Amino acid sequence: MRPDQITLRMVRARLARPFENRWQRFETWTKVVVQVDAGGHSGLGECTAMETPFYNYETVDTAWHLLETYLVPLVLVSDDPSPQAAAEGWRHIDGHEEAKGALECALWDLRARASGQPLCVELGGVPRRVPVGATVGIEASIDELVAAVERAGAAGYGRVRVKIRPGWDTAPLRAVRAALPDVRLIADANAAYGAEHLDLLAGLDDLGLLAIEQPFARSEVELAAALQTRIEAAVCLDESIKSLADVRRAHRVGACRMVNIKVGRVGGLAEAVRIHDFCREQGIPSFVGGKYEFGLGRWTNLALATLPNMTLPSDVGPSSRYYVEDGASPTLALSAPGWVEPLAAAGLGAQLTDGVEVVRELTLTANQLAVH
Ligand code: MG
Repeated sequence: MRPDQITLRMVRARLARPFENRWQRFETWTKVVVQVDAGGHSGLGECTAMETPFYNYETVDTAWHLLETYLVPLVLVSDDPSPQAAAEGWRHIDGHEEAKGALECALWDLRARASGQPLCVELGGVPRRVPVGATVGIEASIDELVAAVERAGAAGYGRVRVKIRPGWDTAPLRAVRAALPDVRLIADANAAYGAEHLDLLAGLDDLGLLAIEQPFARSEVELAAALQTRIEAAVCLDESIKSLADVRRAHRVGACRMVNIKVGRVGGLAEAVRIHDFCREQGIPSFVGGKYEFGLGRWTNLALATLPNMTLPSDVGPSSRYYVEDGASPTLALSAPGWVEPLAAAGLGAQLTDGVEVVRELTLTANQLAVH
């Protein structure tokens, strides 16, 4: 069953409040959404690439280019629209995991909708409620940070991830811990530190952190292992993990006591499930990380978060926390304080709405294409 057509949309949403990470401050967020139409069903996949190449090299524009020129044509001419066949078909294309992940997610959703199964079941999970974590960015002041973490804790979020960077680490974290002794905290550095900061990071260990996430650059897993030998808190890897092979390597050197699994970063749901399975075998706790997903991306993450080794709160909170309108119907909301549940409907169970601005749209069919 060949897909009838594949549509790419670049969509933009307004944040409920500005967000700042170590690179920049955002008031709007832009995503690419892929829709695959086949056999009367439509599968949807949201690309996790951002507008800027700071978290990794991909952007919404590079993802669009890869999808339009290379990935979508491969799928349009294939007789097998399964996500596995697609991944096999683009194996010769290096990198660009987020672009691949978007189309791969749409194919998973298509398959689940066609089979009448919720996506979580299709992935090997069970329809169960999932604990939710929140993320707080770099705030204008320590008082505002403490207030934001307090709000998240009071709303029932099972852990709060606080963004840190050199100059915004020890004092803000100590203030949060002093005000909120019981909140489970992850300090997420987004690779901002180097070997010269080992003592500083080890010095955070008396704060009872659940984890220090991605302290060092992506390739510096030995440095992460060196930090792990000095702290009780887990070193959690995020940017370092783009494949199962990366997790195996990090685990081998002792750098990987917790894994943040991001669908886009690892090239799609199939690799995310493989990483999950390895973590489960090795006793490494994991959770689903987010990149400020719109609604469709949140429903995708939630399906993955129902797998059994996702034992820590995942980044699958309600989008109303982050967006004025998230472009999906239904919108993901808490089912109880700190918890969310997948929909019983087939696939993601959600549709794209016109609540987000479509800034670019392109529909491709097989007879338009040259395959590279
Ligand atoms: Mg992170």
